[in-house]
Amino acid sequence: MNVILQVSTGLFHHCTEPDPEAVRKRLEALCDRLPVRGIIYGWGKRTGLYETILETAHRYGAEAWMWLPVFADVRAPEAAEPMISFGSASERGIAACPGEEFRFICPGSRRNLDALIETYEKWTAGCEPDGVFLDRIRYPSAVYSPTDFLGCGCEACRARLQQAGIDPQRLQARMARKKGLDSCLPDRMENGRYHYPDPDLEGLAQMKRSIITDSVGEYSQTFHKKGIKVGIDVFAPALADLVGQDLAALLPLTDLVKPMMYFRTLAPAGIPYELEAYGQPLAKRLAALWGTEIGEDASMERQLRSLGDSQGKICPGIEINRIPGICEPDGKGFRQAFRAAEATGCDTMVLSWNVMKAREEELREIEF
Ligand SMILES: [Zn+2]
Repeated sequence: MNVILQVSTGLFHHCTEPDPEAVRKRLEALCDRLPVRGIIYGWGKRTGLYETILETAHRYGAEAWMWLPVFADVRAPEAAEPMISFGSASERGIAACPGEEFRFICPGSRRNLDALIETYEKWTAGCEPDGVFLDRIRYPSAVYSPTDFLGCGCEACRARLQQAGIDPQRLQARMARKKGLDSCLPDRMENGRYHYPDPDLEGLAQMKRSIITDSVGEYSQTFHKKGIKVGIDVFAPALADLVGQDLAALLPLTDLVKPMMYFRTLAPAGIPYELEAYGQPLAKRLAALWGTEIGEDASMERQLRSLGDSQGKICPGIEINRIPGICEPDGKGFRQAFRAAEATGCDTMVLSWNVMKAREEELREIEF
């Protein structure tokens, strides 16, 4: 099993400014010991840091992947077209909102799509990576508001819904009438895609998928032309379709797909956390459709198998960093995850999402 290391250098608006020397030492220590195939790094920037990471990766024969967010925490939010929630401002999900830079922008906006390319050019000038690793290329889940499940309610997105025969007001009324997401339960699953008995919800799911798939397709074309590989950070297979990530369609478009198999994270993208935000009825429905509790490690193999042949592209991500109260990895989890990945034919795992915050004792658990 090979590994890819993920190094968080902070967000755009909250750069953690790790010391380049400390990053180099940690990366070297891991590259000396493990079969490291790549290093994903980003997106807060500090002079000299990217150069140090790129040089270290190449010295060990590993690929360097620039990590960039697409539809949340963008570099210039003031210039972006925001995502307009269908819900009211008072409606809250389970995430703590104040001070968090996790506001989504409209995934259907041309301007927002182009902004990523501008950010890439600016951020990698003079330090071009081997690949770009796209994060937050999705719709919001329910963690900030259950109504976010309906996607973007901006004028253009509403018009798009109407053209597809979906009445945004009917969707909104549906959420308000019954108990929110409890009225949005899929009744079957095919190829990782959820299907809904309600035609509005079915059409909405299709639209979310096609907008995200088209965005990934467009970026793949653009970056492949430059000779740059494209990777994507995606939700675990059982949660991906709910945020518009159609993994079966995305796999052929990209060079690396990292499902976030975060069973121990109580923050966005963490499986137990996301399930809590969707609520019991939806969580139970997903368990019934998958035939297993998707919030438990034991479901990892089944979730990965649903993606079919890995084609050398599926590299499951497991948490390695320790953030008290939010993310507490353990050796049992690592071993279980490695076994599940191996059993499904994956040859690489991503040690997520920040090796700088991993403790030595946990890193020692990773052996080959
Ligand atoms: Zn919109």
